[in-house]
Amino acid sequence: VLTVRGLRKRYGDQVALDGVDLDVDAGEVVAVIGPSGSGKSTLVRCVHQLEPIDDGAMYLDGELLGHRRTGARLRVLPEKAVAAQRRRMGMVFQQFNLFGHRTVRQNVVDPPVLVHGTPRAEATARAEELLATMGLSDHAGKYPRQLSGGQQQRVAIARAMATRPRIMLFDEPTSALDPELVDEVLRVVRDLAAAGTTMLLVTHEMAFARDVADRVVFMAAGRVVETGPPAELFTDPQTPRLREFLARFR
Ligand code: ATP
Ligand code: MG
Repeated sequence: VLTVRGLRKRYGDQVALDGVDLDVDAGEVVAVIGPSGSGKSTLVRCVHQLEPIDDGAMYLDGELLGHRRTGARLRVLPEKAVAAQRRRMGMVFQQFNLFGHRTVRQNVVDPPVLVHGTPRAEATARAEELLATMGLSDHAGKYPRQLSGGQQQRVAIARAMATRPRIMLFDEPTSALDPELVDEVLRVVRDLAAAGTTMLLVTHEMAFARDVADRVVFMAAGRVVETGPPAELFTDPQTPRLREFLARFR
């Protein structure tokens, strides 16, 4: 579904991504782990085209993201075309970006209706279904401020799922939550994974990555240092860097 090749991204002199290759296949859950500043957020932000890239290429279902190839040259796509590509992905941030003046139900119904032109009845049915599976049916008429952080984040996930994205991108979806609210959000992500949702998930929840991911990608200093199935990566790290990183979680 998603292919990233030779991705480079700089902020001034600061190299955030230094040649990243990554694949996420259909139905696969890929967890990205790594120390602070290793480029995890930058990676998902580049994939979601919230940041211009300096070099490399990204493909969604084989289609080049953000650029069009004309002969040997790459041209930047107009913003409208980029927005259309972005709509095929669902993104969940650390901070639940909900519309405060719209109810929970409206937050989930709006994107498919307003952005994708889905008939309202169909979008509403889908929203009710998503809210039910996420244990939010009783809160559908409330406003985000009336919910706990864990509930808001579950709404944000439902909202991102409402447009039936090809891939879900998560950037530390639980790190802004009080500890007692983390599990209810992880449970929802786990259910999505079990249902075959394709996901790229940045997380610092090692136990969760180990349980849920099909593959784990360890990043350090803007590079993918190690990648493999969690059973291998967590029990038999091949690099001192990963060993040192994992030691902090023991
Ligand atoms: P964390 O675990 O703390 O979230 P991360 O792995 O997500 O870290 P990034 O946020 O991707 O790391 O940052 C990678 C590097 O790029 C860091 O050195 C960071 O300081 C730098 N960086 C990220 N965003 C910006 C920005 N908007 N402007 C300047 N530098 C940035
Ligand atoms: Mg980050």
